[in-house]
Amino acid sequence: MPSESKYPSIPIPDIDLWAFLFERKDKSFPDDKVIYFDPYTSRSYTYAQVKSTAIEFGKGLKALWDWKKGDVLALYTPNCIDTPAVTWGCHWAGGILSPANPGYTVDELAFQLKDSGAKALITQLPFVKAAKEAASKVGIPEDRVAVIGDHRDPEGRVKHFTSIRNISGATRYRRTKAKPDEDLAFLVYSSGTTGHPKGVMLTHKNIVANTMMIKAAEAGNLSWKGGPSGEGDKLLAFLPFFHIYGLTCLIHQSMYSGFQLVVMPKFDLDDFCRIIQEHKVTFAYVVPPVVLLLSKHPTVDKYDLSSIKMMNSGAAPLTHELVHALHNRLKIPIKQGYGLSETSPTTHTQPWSDWNKTIGSVGTMLPYQTAKYMSPEEKEVAPGEVGELWIKGPNVFKGYLNNPEGTANSLMPDGYFKTGDIGYQDKDGNFYITDRVKELIKYKGFQVPPAELEGKLAAHTKIADAAVIGVYDKEQATELPRAYIVPAAGIEANEATTAEITQWLNKQVANHKKLRGGIIFVDEIPKSVSGKILRRVLKEKAKRDEEAK
Ligand code: AMP
Repeated sequence: MPSESKYPSIPIPDIDLWAFLFERKDKSFPDDKVIYFDPYTSRSYTYAQVKSTAIEFGKGLKALWDWKKGDVLALYTPNCIDTPAVTWGCHWAGGILSPANPGYTVDELAFQLKDSGAKALITQLPFVKAAKEAASKVGIPEDRVAVIGDHRDPEGRVKHFTSIRNISGATRYRRTKAKPDEDLAFLVYSSGTTGHPKGVMLTHKNIVANTMMIKAAEAGNLSWKGGPSGEGDKLLAFLPFFHIYGLTCLIHQSMYSGFQLVVMPKFDLDDFCRIIQEHKVTFAYVVPPVVLLLSKHPTVDKYDLSSIKMMNSGAAPLTHELVHALHNRLKIPIKQGYGLSETSPTTHTQPWSDWNKTIGSVGTMLPYQTAKYMSPEEKEVAPGEVGELWIKGPNVFKGYLNNPEGTANSLMPDGYFKTGDIGYQDKDGNFYITDRVKELIKYKGFQVPPAELEGKLAAHTKIADAAVIGVYDKEQATELPRAYIVPAAGIEANEATTAEITQWLNKQVANHKKLRGGIIFVDEIPKSVSGKILRRVLKEKAKRDEEAK
């Protein structure tokens, strides 16, 4: 029997994201509450300013670029306090937002622009060259690349938003409403269980539902006390807004619950600690490698982090050792959540009060979630036994864009989504993730699709065959991508070849996809009779090699 969430079902309104955030009657914080704060420039947005800027931006999209319902706006920027207004301005105009990693190379960005069918692109000045190159590769005209952020151009002007806001004649435009169940709010990219990155179609309802589900679990109808609320809490936001964890759990949660996000463009340990101390930050959403740094790095001793009440870790497994190490050093409790791009993302979270009772668990199911564990033969396993986690609920995505096969392989006709993660559930409803059946590698929470790296490696003249797997590195609390390579005939498997291939690949991929786990030369790549790479065999080999060291 599938198990159900223990939380009561909260009514999810049948409205689009704009109405959910900006036309609500139940808002318990004032319009002039600062929601997004930039600790580097002290620039900020109140709730009301986000709304008015988003409307101006949405009108600009319609006036300038003839924005129509379903048009896709790509976003290629590090975290920036202008991002929320761009996001909801795009929705105001009836659009779909597709955020991309600002670390992407021109080709990686061009892939997403083309695949998503983006009509225009928003970026920041330091990224504008790459953005324009990628745009031109896919036929997006240069004047449809616009800039946000605080950087000064060579003439010393700050151009944020100016090219899109306040367009003459734009006042006449009206909001385009979305159908919550049908219309997409976001196209985020994930490789899913196999293959190359795919556009994950998230509807307005998916995000409305998940935002409410998270709040219900965090702000607890049940046992929860002390999580972020609108009453004075500040949350440090370095998790990328282009990834679903930052997009829902940070941008949407803060706007809905009224707590302040103190926004960092990227993670930096010194800045992380200094900002907590200076701005009396009370919560931080983190990933395991950050927990490791906070537990071990000497820099942390220079700062007073006592304002932090609790941290939440997600995106990758958090070990018992790290929970204890963080708590022993900083006396800060840390709990875990779990989810995927395809589930908008959060499906499970530890109740705050349970953080030290169920260490290692990703928590219990959020409201509306139904889950079951399945055998490789797709039969439900007995309660408590290990299987693949399948999940159902209003936060489950609509499918992969233009990819009926990928969609059919992961979304079952009865609504269950196959997560590709392995685990079990204890008798109290706490879920544990123990492994992955899918190919995906995660470097510090960022997705590295092995198929993408294998595709590139196969093109190198000195390589006959290649397979990429993740190897866990305890020192950094993350997986590292490692390539097993069969050299082409007559090519020597030596350090020079390794260096040549590494440098060649590194130029073509974003930083997080680099082969930090090294290159190992082998005589052949283990494959099934149907030609599928047997990654499990390589993983076992990696484990044996590690033990033999
Ligand atoms: P993404 O779509 O990038 O959010 O990646 C989702 C994947 O991250 C999941 O399928 C898991 O493999 C992994 N993941 C997320 N949260 C956790 C967690 N708390 N523990 C273990 N793995 C996690």
